[in-house]
Amino acid sequence: MQRAELRPRGDTPPGQVDQVRYASPFLQVRLLKKMGQSDVCFQDLLRLQQKIDRLEGLLSENNRLVAALRDSLVHRKAGRPGGVANSSSVSAPRLPGCRLAEELKDGADGVQLLDVYDLLAFDNPDGGAWKQGFDISYRGDEWDEQPLEVFLVPHSHNDPGWLKTFDGYYEDQTRHILNNMVTKLSEDSRRKMIWAEISYFSKWWSEIDEQKRSTVKRLVGAGQLELVTGGWVMPDEASTHYFALLDQLLEGHQWLQTHLGVTPSSGWAIDPFGHSPSMTYLLKGAGLKNMVIQRIHYAVKKHFARQKSLEFLWRQSWDSSPRSDITCHMMPFYSYDVPHTCGPNPAVCCQFDFHRLPGRRVFCPWRVPPQPITEQNVQERALLLLDQYRQKSLLFRTPVLLVPLGDDFRFVESSEWDVQLSSYQRLFDYYQQHPELRVTVSPGVQLEVEIWKF
Ligand SMILES: [Zn+2]
Repeated sequence: MQRAELRPRGDTPPGQVDQVRYASPFLQVRLLKKMGQSDVCFQDLLRLQQKIDRLEGLLSENNRLVAALRDSLVHRKAGRPGGVANSSSVSAPRLPGCRLAEELKDGADGVQLLDVYDLLAFDNPDGGAWKQGFDISYRGDEWDEQPLEVFLVPHSHNDPGWLKTFDGYYEDQTRHILNNMVTKLSEDSRRKMIWAEISYFSKWWSEIDEQKRSTVKRLVGAGQLELVTGGWVMPDEASTHYFALLDQLLEGHQWLQTHLGVTPSSGWAIDPFGHSPSMTYLLKGAGLKNMVIQRIHYAVKKHFARQKSLEFLWRQSWDSSPRSDITCHMMPFYSYDVPHTCGPNPAVCCQFDFHRLPGRRVFCPWRVPPQPITEQNVQERALLLLDQYRQKSLLFRTPVLLVPLGDDFRFVESSEWDVQLSSYQRLFDYYQQHPELRVTVSPGVQLEVEIWKF
């Protein structure tokens, strides 16, 4: 809007303005008045000049602030907190976030993410099997005292519009996923699933009959189906205004309250490109207790993994009390698909995405396909998968491990449900028959249950 005002008015008679030049609209504007110009036009130009002067004033104020922050940083690095800047006559302002950062630094375990950026080289060295990470090794006796507890969480990420329209996805995939979900979860009470996008869920709900609705209510009540986040969509968090973030969250939560009588307790944000403290704050305000985030810069993930800080209490930078705290789990690896969620090696994990068995629609780009689980190979397969689970668990402070099982628009066909869940059941049965492996597994979980032990 400001830039538009800088342009000469379209109704100005030609020749009245000699020169309107702005190398940058905010930095340099020179207006020259020519003789014989009307008073109206002169007044317009005067107002324009005043606006520009004001903008220049604001800009130089910003520059002063940036210089003060820079000076304050230099002094902190030199171990002289609170000193007066050498290169500027302006003393550093004490922003609330800075004060909290100082307090957290002195605290037992606080991490201020802005400080973490200074520690990272962002150099992307080859980490081996975990390309953007590091080798993970273990002795084998780490689980002697407390067995590894794995929670496998089937999920299906449904974008309300991406390569297809909302209706296109709904017709081709989403309604089948939800219909099959009802059938497959009803077949075995150990099976569980989570669902995030209420825009799709409500559309589907409006089309199903009362009998199916009551089955859904039963599955929700039994903890087999958990609605996570409960937003209308899984929103972008980088550029979205908080009004919009809040509006879609209200829409979804009100729908869930009206039709199912539930309020979500766990957040599930696996595909937003970056995560915002504003969304976190809104989730906490909406009653959520836990949240999962995924798309974080690999260097931050790696740093947090080394520090075993991938699970933490996320506190607002302006809050010096725990009231805004919410438990957060940051996924450690590259993506939320199966190759990047069972453990650090995608070539191995991909072999445990049974939707990629030879002959099915998708395959493993690492060129090692999954194998059907048989009596002959179950031991070898179970130990191979357990090795990945164990490695992943060592990035966390407890032997309680979240293992998502899904991808974009997964669990569409009945056969995908069957091949995925029956294969995992065979592997998990093997673990159960071999207590010496020190692993317990659950094919699905309510996210609020005990993942968050510290
Ligand atoms: Zn997405």
